[in-house]
Amino acid sequence: MSRALQPVRGTQDLLPAVMRRHRAVIETARGHALRFGYDEIATPVFEFTDVFARPIGETTDIVMKEMYSFVDKGGEEITLRPENTAGVVRAVISNALTQSLPLRFFYHGSMFRYERPQKGRFRQFHQIGVELIGVKEPQGDVEVIALGADILHALGVLERTELHLNTLGDPESRGGYRDALVKYFGAHAHKLSEDSRKRLERNPLRILDSKDAADIALSAGAPHFEDYLTPASHDFFRRVRDGLDGLGIRYVLDPRLVRGLDYYTHTAFEFVTTELGSQGAVLAGGRYDGLMGVMGGPETPGVGWAGGIERLSLMIAEPPAPPRPIALVPIGGDAEALALKLAQELRRDGFAVDLAYSGNLQKRMRRADRIKARVAVIVGEDELKSGRAALRDLDAGTQTDVPLTALKDRLAAFRG
Ligand code: ATP
Ligand code: MG
Repeated sequence: MSRALQPVRGTQDLLPAVMRRHRAVIETARGHALRFGYDEIATPVFEFTDVFARPIGETTDIVMKEMYSFVDKGGEEITLRPENTAGVVRAVISNALTQSLPLRFFYHGSMFRYERPQKGRFRQFHQIGVELIGVKEPQGDVEVIALGADILHALGVLERTELHLNTLGDPESRGGYRDALVKYFGAHAHKLSEDSRKRLERNPLRILDSKDAADIALSAGAPHFEDYLTPASHDFFRRVRDGLDGLGIRYVLDPRLVRGLDYYTHTAFEFVTTELGSQGAVLAGGRYDGLMGVMGGPETPGVGWAGGIERLSLMIAEPPAPPRPIALVPIGGDAEALALKLAQELRRDGFAVDLAYSGNLQKRMRRADRIKARVAVIVGEDELKSGRAALRDLDAGTQTDVPLTALKDRLAAFRG
């Protein structure tokens, strides 16, 4: 096959059976989000590169290696969004929405990252996500985690995940911890991966996030963030945990959980499964009190998460099949003309109708079987003259004669 006919590496066609799974994830998430007061928002798929480069941090993997950036025909530096928090916050600032806090948003859509494709890891992938903007209290963190847990529960995957929880503290805690890490990793710099030696200067916290075996081994002995938390940060984290405990949401404390993005403060969390190999994170997020300010808006706290639709789709049960259609089977020119009109009327009444435009009775009946039609409505010349149709129940294999005027009523029994 010619190269142009292959999808680009890391992209895929979502054929109907897979798309149905995506749709189930999106609709379930949207339904629960609405009950929590999260309204749907959509921001552009591409933004000025600055929208992502600044807040995500010039030293993160996403910005250093994974962004799809290009200069457009007008000379603008553009990036396909690698995640949607920066876009939503940009939209809040652009539309001056900070006048009416708090804001609660739900979104879903395509994200783009130049990564090595694997099972559950693509270059164009899809996320659901929520953002709660303008709530500085730890109850906000509890709310978004509870919403995530509810969605996972409704999808039947919560029981197969573990919630990992950590705190990154406030900037002051972070500064103290940073110094401790520089001291620790600095003493072992020769054992670090090349990437992590760079991180040591720019962002030592990120070394804890490394997937390199040597880095992981070294990280095991690194100082713990907990020992560097200010009393206020300690208290914040305790209140988040108390809130989760109160709701019966189970979690494990994971001091190694440092989110991949620079603007996170306090709570970091990740629902992880062992079912997808090393692509175990299905829904992840945290608090980002520093983001709005970094992006040039008024200092405004925020907390949210994003879930990977591809990964969730792999874990959910087969969604219900679409409604089985009614097959219209006209025999002869006059019947075909009638069938065209009848199909239109039935569709307007909410029935799913299949009408083939050619073929004899046998061929049309085979098609009705193939598309798993529930009933076939057969209209021949004789039936037409007497204003009747043959209604065949394809499951029961029975056939009855029905006046055309009573057809809709009789078909109602087979709806859906
Ligand atoms: P990972 O550690 O797996 O690379 P991440 O920390 O980069 O994840 P986030 O930026 O937190 O991921 O994105 C939230 C969720 O989006 C992830 O938990 C995952 O389910 C999904 N996700 C992230 N990158 C991809 C990808 N390339 N393909 C498919 N899903 C992805
Ligand atoms: Mg990643």
